[in-house]
Amino acid sequence: MRSSEKISERILLVEDDLVFGKDLVKALESEIKDPVTWTKSLAETLPCLDSSQRYFAAVLDFVLPDATNGEIIDVVTQKGIPSIVFTSVINSELRKIVWSKKIVDYILKDDQSSLGYLLSSLKKLKANKNHIILIVDDSLFFRRAISDLLYMHQYKLITATNGKEALEALKRYPEIKLVITDFNMPGMDGCLLCKTIREAYSKEELAIIGMSSERDETMAARFIKSGANDFIIKQSFIREEFYCRVAQCIENICLLKQTKLDAIMDYLTGLYNRRFFFEKGEKLFLSSRQFNRPLCCAMIDVDHFKKVNDTYGHDVGDLVLQKLAEIFKNFVKQNELIARLGGEEFCFVISGRDGEDKNDFRNQIEKRFNALKALTQATKIAYGDANQKLAVTISIGISFNTDNDFSDMLKSADNRLYYSKKGGRNLVTVTG
Ligand code: GH3
Ligand code: MG
Ligand code: MG
Repeated sequence: MRSSEKISERILLVEDDLVFGKDLVKALESEIKDPVTWTKSLAETLPCLDSSQRYFAAVLDFVLPDATNGEIIDVVTQKGIPSIVFTSVINSELRKIVWSKKIVDYILKDDQSSLGYLLSSLKKLKANKNHIILIVDDSLFFRRAISDLLYMHQYKLITATNGKEALEALKRYPEIKLVITDFNMPGMDGCLLCKTIREAYSKEELAIIGMSSERDETMAARFIKSGANDFIIKQSFIREEFYCRVAQCIENICLLKQTKLDAIMDYLTGLYNRRFFFEKGEKLFLSSRQFNRPLCCAMIDVDHFKKVNDTYGHDVGDLVLQKLAEIFKNFVKQNELIARLGGEEFCFVISGRDGEDKNDFRNQIEKRFNALKALTQATKIAYGDANQKLAVTISIGISFNTDNDFSDMLKSADNRLYYSKKGGRNLVTVTG
């Protein structure tokens, strides 16, 4: 995989305006959180490029006292540093010149929103390191050309020379977010590759951009009907447009993934929500039956939580719920489920090994939840400015998979929880 990960996190700023430069350094350091090397001329920049320091990105003024015609851009981009150009004027002539150089983007300096745009471009550039793109083309020339363009934007890249290799790469790297594929390839053409990919990956999971040099007017429609999100003609290739289309595809995928995630997460605690709990819990129940695994359900309710709200305020109440969620997250192991069912109620579903002895499992579970109860009571939760601290207790009800179905199991756990409350709270009660 080709990736720009090893480039250390430093930003090069070349800007001769002292006031503007100072503001930029401040904004870059506080927003992007990377140290800045600031130079004010081409001559001052050269030694910084020869040193061993490498840069994550450069922000370049188009006009400098000793380089009035954008010469700095060539010097910096030749070092492979992703560069964003600041210009005071932009017309179609200059736009052509700027884009003929290998830049990431240009920004109009005098625009009110230019600083915000610059910061957001740099943030995107950083985020691109997490996005993997698969380039499929039998032509080495195009694979290189597209790779170079995307590499400049810090994307992680994988290349394949035909459809078969592409499908293998998708299996090996499930994190791939975008496939850019040529049409004319030996074995399987780009449209067939799209169709094959769509049998396994929806448009919510993976974006596809088709590319072709074929002078066939129907090519865009063919690609899109085969499942591609977008299409680009190789001959009339405009770099700025290419970057926009790629970024848009990736943004959509990220947005859809986030929306999906939001639908199953509890906004306050970052634990799974009630909806996901029932979906996953049901599955755990069925597989425990199938593989003869013991299973437990532990229902938890915070004791006298209303009093926490009444005494310290709702915000502190929220903070307590977040802290408890943190404790619970640390408590669960892989494949164990914890969710916030609502209010101050949480529930765990934990399954044992295939064929594990039920009594051993039961003893272990009892021990673990007694330890969790003690840990919760012992945890001092800091709140307010004066670093004041408070502690809460929890009541727990546990049931095992001797019930008919998952919902009965939950009812049994809830019933045990009631006994823990009735027994004085800060207790663990187990079925049977
Ligand atoms: P018990 O020991 O019997 O469980 O008493 P309790 O006070 O914990 O139980 P009760 O059900 O009477 O009160 C629960 C409180 O939890 C009432 C509600 O305002 C509060 N609550 C529910 N959701 C939230 C939340 O998201 N944030 C905060 N701060 N409070 C919440
Ligand atoms: Mg309660
Ligand atoms: Mg309650």
